[in-house]
Amino acid sequence: MKLLDSHAHLDFPQFKEDRASVLEEMRSQQVAAVNVGADLRSSRASVELARENLHILAACGVHPHDAKGFSPQVEEELEELLRAERAVAVGECGLDFYRDLSPRDVQARVFRSQLRLARRLELPVILHERAAWPEFVRVLSEEGPVGGVVHAFSGDASAARQVLDLGLHIGIGGPLTYPKNAALREAVRSIPLERLLVETDAPYLPPQAFRGKRNDPLKVRLVLSELAGIRRMPPDELAEITWNNACRLFTVRPRF
Ligand SMILES: [Zn+2]
Repeated sequence: MKLLDSHAHLDFPQFKEDRASVLEEMRSQQVAAVNVGADLRSSRASVELARENLHILAACGVHPHDAKGFSPQVEEELEELLRAERAVAVGECGLDFYRDLSPRDVQARVFRSQLRLARRLELPVILHERAAWPEFVRVLSEEGPVGGVVHAFSGDASAARQVLDLGLHIGIGGPLTYPKNAALREAVRSIPLERLLVETDAPYLPPQAFRGKRNDPLKVRLVLSELAGIRRMPPDELAEITWNNACRLFTVRPRF
């Protein structure tokens, strides 16, 4: 059963001690991943990981937390990185009004710049949103159609509808397994199968059984099985569908 974790941060320091063995374990268990950049440094690291590992794809972008560090020079280097053969998406980018680590107007401007960059390069986007839903939807509608995925989606059925109407995919991660997330489990029932992706956001957001521990891409299997249970489908069938969805969106097929 091949799986593609559509959102991981294997370059982060939490993997410093055992990165090589996690990557090897992923290869042997047929788990691929998109390693997602959050700033220039991690975007470079993503491209490097993808160059060295055929089961890793790279995304390059600036997280809303780091929007204040964005500049024309940063954008230029991102564009350069995104020309790499296995760089498949712009991201993660978006809005985070929960932690507000960059001013909100700066976040919105940098978000728009990256949506335009994605359009120019004909790449999908990997989107981050927290506590900024109305503004997030407004920016996306104003900027016009772009392919991509709303990562770690945690909204209800009406928010899912808005994402689908924007033509975007929905990334489902560990929070699907949290007892309090009944609205998310309900929302997931209504999402067309061809718009679903699975992810971990490793090292963050571990599934319920691993709360408080470091997450890793192998645990995407737990997300998949929770999702299969909710959709009343055989896990291997759903695995194949989400694998194909990811390959279609990112256009590069990972290999093991
Ligand atoms: Zn992330």
